[in-house]
Amino acid sequence: MKSENIAAISTALAASGVAVIRISGDSPLDIAEKMFNPSGKTAVKNFQPYRMYVGEIVADGFNDHGLCVYFKGPNSFTGEDVVEFHSHGGLAITKGILKKILSLGARLAVNGEFTKRAFLNGKLSLSSAEGLIDMINSESVSGVKAGYYLYREKLNAEITALQDRITDALAEVDADMDFPEEDLEITSTENVESALDFVIERIDNLLKTYRTGRALKSGVRVGIAGKPNTGKSSILNALLNYDKAIVSDIAGTTRDIVEGEIDINGVRFNFSDTAGIRESDDKIEELGVKLSKKVLDESDIILFVMDASDITAEDDAIYNIIKDKNALVAVNKTDKSNLKDARADVYVSALKKENIEKLKEMLFERALGAGIDINGDFLCEERHFEALKRAKEKLVMARNSVGTVPLDILAIDVKDGWDALGEISGKTATEEITNDIFSKFCVGK
Ligand code: GDP
Repeated sequence: MKSENIAAISTALAASGVAVIRISGDSPLDIAEKMFNPSGKTAVKNFQPYRMYVGEIVADGFNDHGLCVYFKGPNSFTGEDVVEFHSHGGLAITKGILKKILSLGARLAVNGEFTKRAFLNGKLSLSSAEGLIDMINSESVSGVKAGYYLYREKLNAEITALQDRITDALAEVDADMDFPEEDLEITSTENVESALDFVIERIDNLLKTYRTGRALKSGVRVGIAGKPNTGKSSILNALLNYDKAIVSDIAGTTRDIVEGEIDINGVRFNFSDTAGIRESDDKIEELGVKLSKKVLDESDIILFVMDASDITAEDDAIYNIIKDKNALVAVNKTDKSNLKDARADVYVSALKKENIEKLKEMLFERALGAGIDINGDFLCEERHFEALKRAKEKLVMARNSVGTVPLDILAIDVKDGWDALGEISGKTATEEITNDIFSKFCVGK
């Protein structure tokens, strides 16, 4: 099949040491031949694949001195022939080189088009492509790791193994239909049962990792709650290690939501100060209260702060609002009072910076689960989570009807489960899903 040459600047559009401009398609080397003058003796058309050649890059109105490398399909990222120019990284330089490539017949690539071609050419699965975009977009170490797990096809391998197990069981059902002898019916029923049990259990195990995986990928949202003046802003400052929140002595003055981010053990934590959730008659404060409740609802965990020197009925009221959420209770100002409270998880002093590290560790544990090793394998994409839930639903339905309906009827649910699993790797994903995923990529990837 003919494949149009597409081109894009693959590195960030900014002044930088070097940049990469890439072409993929049927004949990128033909384009390179018209705009690259090698310093050595080898003509462009005789370039060996996977080798860097130095020379002059003839751009639109100027020349640069750089490198050219040819990847021969199918052993390239896209599976097609690919040429990369490694130029100096200025904006005008890269745009000028791209303009020259386009004038020689290539088309500007759209978002994610290189990776989409790689997917369509069987170079990577859909989940691997998603891992790649997760890695690129991640600002935390844990996000990169979560993406890498997908990118390197580890989830795909697991899903494919589950699909194969189902396929084997279905093949037996088919055989059963063709040769409906009694013995075969019994063995295939048993085999279908055990295959379904096996696959359902594995899916369950994967689903259980999602809460942690999502936190690794997207970070953890922490809402800080507590009555005014308990030291919420001070704790936030102590956690962030700089003065971002305004600390004040007058109750209710930190009404604006103060936000900040830190990494704990490589995981991103986003803090929002809910600035005193409490019932109020004051109109402006009412707005603040509403805003605070929104933060509460959207948070993965709540850090509830009390003042050891001043625990009152107002604390009880707030505690009642947050106690059913995933809340961590910190009693602050231990430098002022050593009062103990049965609700406390941790005692801190924001002023003296005491137990702030312990607070971080507890936040980590509360958000990700105790004893979590972030180097493990986790489900991190909502799309995969939803597909697995659907697969499980269908397979459980099939499992529950083993023995009560004929195997060929049961096979319909089993096949639906198989299809839901296939959405993850892309085997059964619709064009809409695929397009949606690649549209999130940047141009040049
Ligand atoms: P918020 O209204 O809950 O955000 O509380 P702030 O962080 O603005 O603190 C209210 C007051 O308590 C300020 O005067 C802080 O300096 C003081 N404060 C905060 N943390 C501590 C602490 O650990 N010990 C003491 N003694 N004072 C604190």
